[in-house]
Amino acid sequence: MPRTKSTPSEETAGFGVEELGDAKKMERLYCSGRQVPSPMGGFLVALGVRGESDGTSTVLFECQSSSLRYQLPVRKATRTEKSKVKAQTEEGLDPLCPRGEEGPSLVRRGTDWFCPRCNIKFGRAV
Ligand SMILES: [Zn+2]
Repeated sequence: MPRTKSTPSEETAGFGVEELGDAKKMERLYCSGRQVPSPMGGFLVALGVRGESDGTSTVLFECQSSSLRYQLPVRKATRTEKSKVKAQTEEGLDPLCPRGEEGPSLVRRGTDWFCPRCNIKFGRAV
């Protein structure tokens, strides 16, 4: 089948499993390195993260108790988040993922800053 580029849903390939609800909250817990609750009870274990072609990413989780898998779509960096990161680097600080409560520290990949957990690009490293 020919690939149509018009529908955004086709750009995020994901992992083809059920999406977690309450994405923003899950994203905060995950970036903070805290436990992410499973819809089945208990907690989820992150198995991996994939970068999508539209600049978002998808995290794959497995439920510790049921072994069911879920995916969490992660938003692109907002303007506010990017400017927070920029302000930190301008002060000579190690920039932190603006979605976590206290980090993690962003990692430099090429000329860009990425969060090692959510894999989102938060701006350019100067
Ligand atoms: Zn993050």
